Amino acid sequence: MKNYRIGTTCVQGGYTPGNGEPRQIPIIQSTTFKYATSEEMGKLFDLEANGYFYSRLQNPTCDTVAAKICEMEGGSAAMLTSSGQSANFFSVFNLATCGDHVVASSAVYGGTFNLFAVTMAKMGIEFTFVAPDCTDEELEAAFRPNTKAVFGETIANPALRVLDIERFANAAHAHGVPLIIDNTFATPVNCRPFEWGADIVTHSTTKYMDGHGSAVGGCIVDSGKFDWMAHADKYPGLCTPDESYHGITYAERFGNEGAFITKATAQLMRDFGATPAPQSAFLLNLGLESLHVRMKQHCANGKAVAEFLKNNDKIAWVRYPDLEGDVDHALAEKYLPNGSCGVVSFGVKGGRKAAETFMKHLKIAAIETHVADARTCCLHPASATHRQMNDEQLIAAGVSPDLVRYSCGLEDANDLIEDLAQALNAID
Ligand SMILES: *Cc1c(COP(=O)(O)O)cnc(C)c1O
Repeated sequence: MKNYRIGTTCVQGGYTPGNGEPRQIPIIQSTTFKYATSEEMGKLFDLEANGYFYSRLQNPTCDTVAAKICEMEGGSAAMLTSSGQSANFFSVFNLATCGDHVVASSAVYGGTFNLFAVTMAKMGIEFTFVAPDCTDEELEAAFRPNTKAVFGETIANPALRVLDIERFANAAHAHGVPLIIDNTFATPVNCRPFEWGADIVTHSTTKYMDGHGSAVGGCIVDSGKFDWMAHADKYPGLCTPDESYHGITYAERFGNEGAFITKATAQLMRDFGATPAPQSAFLLNLGLESLHVRMKQHCANGKAVAEFLKNNDKIAWVRYPDLEGDVDHALAEKYLPNGSCGVVSFGVKGGRKAAETFMKHLKIAAIETHVADARTCCLHPASATHRQMNDEQLIAAGVSPDLVRYSCGLEDANDLIEDLAQALNAID
């Protein structure tokens, strides 16, 4: 199933049933797996044989769905996690430890910013945040001898800044470290970061991939292209024996294609247990089957809504990368030629109070912290997802205090626009 177009991979990737086997992916709702002898099971523990023994580490249903996402991104190996947060945590913690440093775009999801700047800082991992449109000199100056990775989002949630993936990949590689891209908003339907030099991709599958607001989840995909052994001094976790795993050296045993995901599974999933339920993986797969069809409608609705808002005199500003004249329009044309996503950010004239009035009058769009769902939803990040940030951090993340994030669902664009119009009219 490697060489089909993205739409075919969305529907059929990851699973090819044999004769008489279920057409839909089976939900293997089992914590454990049976073996006849201790010896056979021991081989699994030693990573000498492939197979399942305990669903905290790996489960067949979850692996089937991970394999589909792996094909969609064009990667070499992938794993599901219980949330986007755990995917991003694992992706960085698999490379960096106490005393290490990471360069990250400042335009990232609020939860990711908190994970990096607060929680992982407590673990002794330091982050330097750079603006996605920083100068080459600023980007260069962010690196240190102990830098272990660069992190950014294809389309930042909710700032909608588009990352110049190629530029960040080149900078990362010049310093011998991989680029990790959170590709949640674009999805592999609209952008495949590996084609632009990214090394590892993460997802909050909770968003468009699931698409129906039914299961929180995450995914990590490895491109298999980063040469760990060539930078063995930086990555002892991958390039020297793991005493907690029978002296295995991941990069030697599993190569560039398998080392990263095997280590993340064997160490991080084993110890942190951020594993998804097989039932959630099944629901995610249902979402993936229509992702390529849904993304078209999300993007068409996003464009229609952005154009309506741009021409409305109650609106102070609109950000949508596909809009002509948008600050990131050129980057969107390069990285997102088929459309960006269904999320539109804008400011309502009259600031916070006007925004509140407007939001109160919306009838179709529900006020939710959720985004990228079949049902249109709307949020004021400064008072919700980003409320832990001060004004300075908000600005750095590209989130002005008056920013409203409007996530176009799959409804008819004309109804969304009429709803927006009546809610804007309610502002005096
Ligand atoms: C929502 C989101 C996350 C966090 O994912 P959860 O599934 O909510 O844990 C991470 N990154 C981006 C870009 C997101 O939108």
